[in-house]
Amino acid sequence: MKFIDEYLSDIKDKGLYRELKFFNRPQSKYTSIGNKRMLLMASNNYLDLCNDDRLKDAAEKAIHTYGVGSGGSRLTTGSYELHDQLEKKIAIFKGTEAAILFNTGYMANIGTITAIADKEWIIFSDALNHASIIDGCRLSGAKIVVYKHCDMDDLQEKIKVYKGNKRFIVTDGVFSMDGDIAPLDKIVKLAKENNILTMVDDAHGTGVLGDNGTGCVEYFNLKGQVDIQLGTLSKALASEGGFVAGTKSLVTYLRHKARSFIYSTALSPAMIAVSLCSLDIVKNEKERRVKLLENSKWFQWELRKLGFNVLESNTVIIALVIGNAEKTIKLSEKLFEKGIFISAIRPPTVPEHTSRLRITLMSSHNREELKYVLDKLKEAGMELGII
Ligand code: PMP
Repeated sequence: MKFIDEYLSDIKDKGLYRELKFFNRPQSKYTSIGNKRMLLMASNNYLDLCNDDRLKDAAEKAIHTYGVGSGGSRLTTGSYELHDQLEKKIAIFKGTEAAILFNTGYMANIGTITAIADKEWIIFSDALNHASIIDGCRLSGAKIVVYKHCDMDDLQEKIKVYKGNKRFIVTDGVFSMDGDIAPLDKIVKLAKENNILTMVDDAHGTGVLGDNGTGCVEYFNLKGQVDIQLGTLSKALASEGGFVAGTKSLVTYLRHKARSFIYSTALSPAMIAVSLCSLDIVKNEKERRVKLLENSKWFQWELRKLGFNVLESNTVIIALVIGNAEKTIKLSEKLFEKGIFISAIRPPTVPEHTSRLRITLMSSHNREELKYVLDKLKEAGMELGII
């Protein structure tokens, strides 16, 4: 079909064509692509649990007890006791009355936002919110008011302009491509003053931020003050699935209204067992996230010393901004040749002219490995005239 060929050739010309890379070993700090051993610096497996024996044992045990497929959607034949246990455990973890599982974080966002908002609603959405929030907002038919990234003056102005009693503010907790944290304390304050609902998608804070690793709400000490806490089990928790934590009535409402919950086959018991186990690990192994955040600070500091443009981040997501898409790919390829896997992120995932390497650390990376990456980044950065 002509329009497809034209589109593909256009994105090739712009350096935006994407190739899949296939791993053939477990996702851990060392993995492999083809027969090449790679140091992985790009995974959301922040706590390096994807290949943890305890999680694999939990999955195996669940398979032996419950089989593999869940066999139906949650409201028909797909609910197992394990699902109930996990929802209760997530609620305790997040400090809420209840929680509901979705099959992915993406589905949690589109299901929740469309269940709540319709064309009578106004949604205030951060300019850098994740695509699944944006899609949920668009699908809902609500009036979408985008405020400048983390800019509370702009949000306040827009709240004054767009009035009504059906309004909510939605934000990423940690921004997935920049690594910065939303000013949740200020957002909650503005929301309370103006009687607006709040929703935070804490995909990247869950398991990483806060004294107990429960995420942004804990980080800001806002327990009980955010109406809708969304998260995913697919990143630090090394599993699959999304969730919403909140009041019992919110959860019951979503069970009846969220279409991505109602009309999709439930997560398999094995993945639920993995999530149950990784929540315990997060609780019991604080040292993983302490080391992770320390290493992230140190690594950012070293990158800046080399002359790279690194966005400010209090998380484990480090955005090394290059700007030009082709140069970004070249840098990523040069690192690949040296056995380092860091993804080049380009538009439309990030705004035009802000192509970047998205570097993510794992709790298992040690300083020696990070120094090796710094050396190779320095070499390649100089060769390409980036630093
Ligand atoms: N929200 C944010 C902020 C994300 O970064 C992601 C994943 N990239 C998602 C939601 C979607 O989560 P999942 O991968 O579980 O669908």
